[in-house]
Amino acid sequence: MSRRRQIYEGKAKILYEGPEPGTLIQYFKDDATAFNAQKKGTIQGKGVINNRISEYVFTRLNHIGVPNHFIRRLNMREQLVRQVEIIPIEVVVRNVAAGSISKRLGIPEGEMLPHTLIEYYYKDDALGDPMIAEEHIRCFGWAGHDEMQDIADMAIRVNDFMCGMFAAINIRLIDFKLEFGRIWDGDFSRVILADEISPDGCRLWDMHTGEKLDKDRFRRDLGGEEEAYQEVARRLGLLQDDNGPSEVFDLSKHRKLRGK
Ligand code: 5GP
Repeated sequence: MSRRRQIYEGKAKILYEGPEPGTLIQYFKDDATAFNAQKKGTIQGKGVINNRISEYVFTRLNHIGVPNHFIRRLNMREQLVRQVEIIPIEVVVRNVAAGSISKRLGIPEGEMLPHTLIEYYYKDDALGDPMIAEEHIRCFGWAGHDEMQDIADMAIRVNDFMCGMFAAINIRLIDFKLEFGRIWDGDFSRVILADEISPDGCRLWDMHTGEKLDKDRFRRDLGGEEEAYQEVARRLGLLQDDNGPSEVFDLSKHRKLRGK
């Protein structure tokens, strides 16, 4: 019998009921998928590294005033997050042409874009996450006008911050994907950053060699994906500390400790 309730299982993460109302536990798996799950595999140790990288980035984003769902890391593979009502949109921010924009518009990979682009995709696996316009978002009521304004503002702030953060460790931030969710306070809601930020959802190229340090190594069968993820964590200074032996958070133990 499972000792806690699973809320959702995605391709790279599992969400469990959290210890307090309004919280969830986000568990990072080693599973990797690409091309709408047509390609499946595992990247050894990815979950541990993504948990750590995402903790680091979300904590720093919190310090610069980008509200997000991260509360604290619980152990090697899990973090406590705020429960949000996920907005069914993937927000992609691009600085340099790569991946689908190169394919779609014939722009050579590596070409600097004239300015940062924000694109929206409808989050629906069965439909293959199709690209959408803001008009679709408004038309189908997936997010309101003010919410979209907040999302675009946050996406640009995250991009500015992350470009600098990665440049400082000789990494070029090519593009990345963000997800947002709503939290409610009575009848009022606000939008905060959710999901994760890790080499799974970013394109990260070494500044000098152009070496890919992200999930494209898996998508394109380049090999060395474990080492690439580790290299990003190492450059961010995240590999030294001892994370302890615990792999999963024990909800019943936590409740007992809190007298519940
Ligand atoms: P593209 O549209 O070029 O395939 O992806 C643009 C950026 O968004 C890349 O950094 C890619 O990793 C990220 N991205 C887009 N869709 C997804 C997705 O469904 N899952 C993940 N992990 N990343 C995505």
